[in-house]
Amino acid sequence: MLKVEDLSAFYGEAQALRNVSLDVAAGEVVTLVGRNGAGKTTLLRSIMGLHKGTRGSVTLDGVSLDGKSADKRARLGLGWVPDDRGIYATLSVAENLSLPPVVDKAAAWSLDKIYEQFPVLHERRDFPGTKLSGGEQQMLAMARPLRAGSRLLLLDEPSEGLAPVIVNQIGQIIRDIKAQGVAVLLVEQNVKFASTVADRHNLLAQGEVVESLDNAEFQSRTAELLEHLGM
Ligand code: ATP
Repeated sequence: MLKVEDLSAFYGEAQALRNVSLDVAAGEVVTLVGRNGAGKTTLLRSIMGLHKGTRGSVTLDGVSLDGKSADKRARLGLGWVPDDRGIYATLSVAENLSLPPVVDKAAAWSLDKIYEQFPVLHERRDFPGTKLSGGEQQMLAMARPLRAGSRLLLLDEPSEGLAPVIVNQIGQIIRDIKAQGVAVLLVEQNVKFASTVADRHNLLAQGEVVESLDNAEFQSRTAELLEHLGM
């Protein structure tokens, strides 16, 4: 569904990504794993069309995204879930959920379906964003693009700063949304968590994909791979 080919990204003269190629199939969960500064967030932002200095190509279901705005990419099915979660703090949960325009009527989750998947958002539906815990904010950030009808979520470190019990809940949500046919490209530093949700992994170091492997191989070689990445 998503195909990234020879993607390079720059901050001025500095190159943050070097000829990255990867793909994500419909309903697949694929990770980007790497230490701080490896280029994971830059890669997600480049796919979403939020980073300007890029070279290479990104296609979604065979449609080229090159040169298209983030807004256009969202309308084609990409859902952006940033690491700061991007919740509108003064708006309620329900208002946050109603804001993003529906981009794909057939794929959009109804509010009932959202609240069934995220019961805590139903309980908190009248609470402002400021009153939500980190885990609740993360759930809201993931629920919004589903409500809009995104078919591929770009998730930037959803486990960051959350207690282990909440991380487990986020993991279950990712498995559930995958079961609904939604694909996920997941940035993670928590490799234990990554291995509980993902089908495949791309290991990133200094802006390059240095290994691409399935979850079984990732699990059997985790210690060696992390040492290789300096994590
Ligand atoms: P982290 O987990 O710390 O966010 P990351 O793997 O997501 O790390 P990026 O944030 O994508 O890495 O950064 C990749 C490289 O680009 C790093 O060398 C970083 O210093 C550089 N970089 C990131 N943002 C900028 C910026 N706004 N200006 C200049 N260089 C940047």
